[in-house]
Amino acid sequence: MKFKELGLSEDLLKAVTTAGYEEATPIQAETIPMVLAGQDVIGQAQTGTGKTAAFALPILEKIDKKNENVQALVVSPTRELAIQTQEEIYKLGRNERANVQVVYGGADIRRQIKSLKNHPQVVVGTPGRLLDHIRRHTLKLDHVQMLVLDEADEMLNMGFLDDIEDIIKQLPEKRQTMLFSATMPPEIKRVGVQFMHDPKHVKIKAKELTTDLIDQFYVRSRDFEKFDVMTRFFDVQNPDLTIVFTRTKRRVDELSSGLQARGYNAAGIHGDLTQKRRTQIMNEFRHGKLDILVATDVAARGIDINDVTHVYNYDIPQDPDSYVHRVGRTGRAGKHGVSMTFVTPNEMDYLREIEKLTKVRMLPLKPPSDEEALVSQLGAAKEAVADLVNKTDTEKFAEVAKGLLAEYDAEDLVAALLNDMTKDDSSQVPVKITPERPLPKRGSKGHGGYHHGGGNRRGGNGGGGYRHRQDRRGNGGEHRGGSRGGHDSRNHDSRNHDSRNHGGDRNRRSNNSGRRSEGGRGFTIRKKD
Ligand code: ADP
Ligand code: MG
Repeated sequence: MKFKELGLSEDLLKAVTTAGYEEATPIQAETIPMVLAGQDVIGQAQTGTGKTAAFALPILEKIDKKNENVQALVVSPTRELAIQTQEEIYKLGRNERANVQVVYGGADIRRQIKSLKNHPQVVVGTPGRLLDHIRRHTLKLDHVQMLVLDEADEMLNMGFLDDIEDIIKQLPEKRQTMLFSATMPPEIKRVGVQFMHDPKHVKIKAKELTTDLIDQFYVRSRDFEKFDVMTRFFDVQNPDLTIVFTRTKRRVDELSSGLQARGYNAAGIHGDLTQKRRTQIMNEFRHGKLDILVATDVAARGIDINDVTHVYNYDIPQDPDSYVHRVGRTGRAGKHGVSMTFVTPNEMDYLREIEKLTKVRMLPLKPPSDEEALVSQLGAAKEAVADLVNKTDTEKFAEVAKGLLAEYDAEDLVAALLNDMTKDDSSQVPVKITPERPLPKRGSKGHGGYHHGGGNRRGGNGGGGYRHRQDRRGNGGEHRGGSRGGHDSRNHDSRNHDSRNHGGDRNRRSNNSGRRSEGGRGFTIRKKD
């Protein structure tokens, strides 16, 4: 649906075009007119579907720019999300000169007090810090007409429901309330009942999965084992075109560097890369110049490639819809696909939740051992050698070949060739992936137990994994250890906007001294990238 049809002002339509949005996403198309009409709205749509603009645009439409009071309050679960949300609202409201400020824990409160004195019409904040400002009377909420509870499921996970109640008590009874969330646990529904007036529910369904074409497996594995297990699976399955999904930007960087170090032709995309670089990587992947694409959910939006043979969920997605979205990248256009989902022992409930949605049981796979992986690789290498011999102009190399045979044992020479053709295993190239905080234990709603065991599926479309041997040698050792690789990972703020309008001190965002977890989460947020 076109933004033009949604009843937004010219200024906002211009900002939408500047932002590069061509069409409204489904959640935007449905909720924007409702919010404009003054209704309370509960909007549910999976991560990365543009929920921020869904409330930002109508808020910007409705606030009175001449009024100096805080008219809209957006509550965000984390500092990162709060900053991103403030940036998005600011960006969209730029033509109308809307004043949007952000407050969050773990940052200098005096600066924030100053920024709140600037008469913002919109304030974005994390619950704890908002309460802090309310208690200090540095944030006055008696003119708030619109309240947004954003990423409500995340706020629930982080234990912010009580804080949110306390905040809501400070707001005028007569107001419009919007709640956005990727998932809708009962506790969140209750918030809707308690604090909203006759809310309209909008639920955008994820695309259905054509499950009969996709073999869906899961692998129980501890977080620190996943990387070695995954590369062993690559060796036995020999996937052609693979997407590896992971939860955080840091992991995208670490996984792609680690994979390169082990000899795989891999690259990662996430929101910190420039659009140009992302497009470049996507094109390489599309044309088979890249075997493995590592991505976060958001970065993978709109990836439309038909020949993906394998999807690896390095981290299990938190909401089942994201799973469907991820795994739906394979098994397209009548082709067969494979999905592999890593699950740590305490994430089994998430797996069951996914199975409930897809109505398909995932089959457990046991991780192959290094030896098994090597056997598979050698099998493939044998075929590849046959190909190589066939296409080699023997005469050209005869002299050097004779020289080598005079110098070395023939068996040693072939062994060296095979060694070079097979990928380095974990004992040769150790890769350490920084631990991320696991998903919170799911609520008490008991799900069934889990099953174990099962055999390995042996892949074998011979040789496919070897075609980029050269690349691999090119950047071998420098990625060792899986630290940030050679990507052009830019600072997050590529949007180049007027820093005057930023509430908090952005340099402090990695300061972990916040007294609440909202300020001190030392990891990137699943939601965005
Ligand atoms: P959510 O809150 O649903 O997880 P976001 O609001 O963070 O999603 O949006 C995800 C990404 O999509 C952001 O980079 C945002 O700028 C972009 N985006 C939002 N709306 C559109 C649109 N209509 N067209 C293209 N991109 C969009
Ligand atoms: Mg969001």
